Amino acid sequence: MKDETKAILAGRKPQDFHGAVNTPVYHASTILYPSLAAIRGQEAMPFTYGRRATPTSAALEDAISELENAAGTVLTPSGASAVSLAILAGVEAGQHLLMVDTVYEPTRKFCDNFMARMGVETTYYDPLIGADIADCIGDNTGLIFMESPGSQTFEAQDVPAIVAAAKARGVKTALDNTWATPLHFKPLDHGVDYSVQAATKYIVGHADALLGTVACAQENHAHLRRTHGQLGLCAAPDDVFLALRGLRTLPLRLQQHQASALEMAKWLQALSFVRRVFYPALPSDAGHALWQRDFSGAAGLFSFELEPCSETQLGAMLDNLTLFGMGYSWGGFESLIVPCETPRTAVPFETDGQMLRVSIGLEHVEDLKADLMAGFGRAGYSA
Ligand SMILES: *Cc1c(COP(=O)(O)O)cnc(C)c1O
Repeated sequence: MKDETKAILAGRKPQDFHGAVNTPVYHASTILYPSLAAIRGQEAMPFTYGRRATPTSAALEDAISELENAAGTVLTPSGASAVSLAILAGVEAGQHLLMVDTVYEPTRKFCDNFMARMGVETTYYDPLIGADIADCIGDNTGLIFMESPGSQTFEAQDVPAIVAAAKARGVKTALDNTWATPLHFKPLDHGVDYSVQAATKYIVGHADALLGTVACAQENHAHLRRTHGQLGLCAAPDDVFLALRGLRTLPLRLQQHQASALEMAKWLQALSFVRRVFYPALPSDAGHALWQRDFSGAAGLFSFELEPCSETQLGAMLDNLTLFGMGYSWGGFESLIVPCETPRTAVPFETDGQMLRVSIGLEHVEDLKADLMAGFGRAGYSA
């Protein structure tokens, strides 16, 4: 069955819920046991406590597992907590962590602060390192973390080469797959141990809930679930419902996000005051070949670099846009734009231009172009 069909069917069992098409929202902490034997664990109970699972959470876990080709998935209250869970599951105290330099900034902070306090040392590596990652692996390395394409500058990583190097040394791998979603890249199929999603972005898709998922194969499943349980993580039932609802239209939305983003990226690239566009789906992008080899599609999120401008010019451009909202997160139906920072410690990212990141929503591209063009005009850019 194709992913488009799986997205419709996965996690739904209408016959279990009086024919209701969608799994209902179960609000539950306590789940009552029918007998002493049951509470003693002598009788199988599908659900035992709200934090562990409800039919609502199980529906989303099953659906994500199906799309990720995973043995199991756990849900967390945000993408950030899914990232930290994958790291905590993947390394032990005193071990060494290899982290991609283009990682989402809060992940960097988690490593530099929290993991450092726990005695885990982090080394940042060039996102373009590929098979040479082998030279960075020490006897003590526990986990290699990837994010492909990376945050802000969207470098595609050579995931198969990195996974091969990791496996050769018995090192675990995790990948933040938020940009591609399991529809456009399946980390577990490439041998990655932990596939992480900020479901907040495209899966929820409507800018109204925070949620994370971590999926894994059978060999890591018990360990992941135990770590998740011991950290006391769970996701709120209404937010899980919103993610399930979002999932049903994910393939359709992603197709449009991708088509519109590619058109916008090409249009931007042709403007004289746009220096560079960072989007692996663009044939001219440095990561295009890797993206084409490993991904089956793109997201609607990319960045571009403008000729330098003053803060006043930037304000004139951004403060008066009508369609592009200014705000964090992405993957919703509405277009967003933010100035972007590029914190790096392994390979500096050099620019004196103005970097902007856009999340292309589901508005018509002609309207989006007109909105940006008016903004460029207010900032004093002219073609
Ligand atoms: C947004 C994001 C996260 C964090 O997700 P939240 O739900 O906001 O906590 C993690 N990784 C990437 C790549 C993201 O873009």
